[in-house]
Amino acid sequence: MTKAKQIINGKLKCSTCKYLLPLEEFGKHKRTSTGYRSNCKACENLKQRKKYNKVPTNTGIIGIYAIECDHCKNTFTTKIVNQVFCSQKCRKRSWYEKNEMKKDKEI
Ligand SMILES: [Zn+2]
Ligand SMILES: [Zn+2]
Repeated sequence: MTKAKQIINGKLKCSTCKYLLPLEEFGKHKRTSTGYRSNCKACENLKQRKKYNKVPTNTGIIGIYAIECDHCKNTFTTKIVNQVFCSQKCRKRSWYEKNEMKKDKEI
């Protein structure tokens, strides 16, 4: 068994983004040599997002992502990788529009 992944000074290298991050950024995993997942939480979230075809762009700054708003289509930057809307306003409007469409179909 090769020990490719090692904890260095309480930090672990993410196999996806290649950043050396503190252990709390990783989810625990029993079956890995380190006891932690090989991907950091942000990268795990990223994988989840890809399922929905919502892939944020890495801005080059750790933990900051560029995402296209699902409502106004403007690109915004955020620390929350699974954020979908640029603002509460867009969130509410999108929700409202979806519900309006539902109403139309039901009539
Ligand atoms: Zn990562
Ligand atoms: Zn928006």
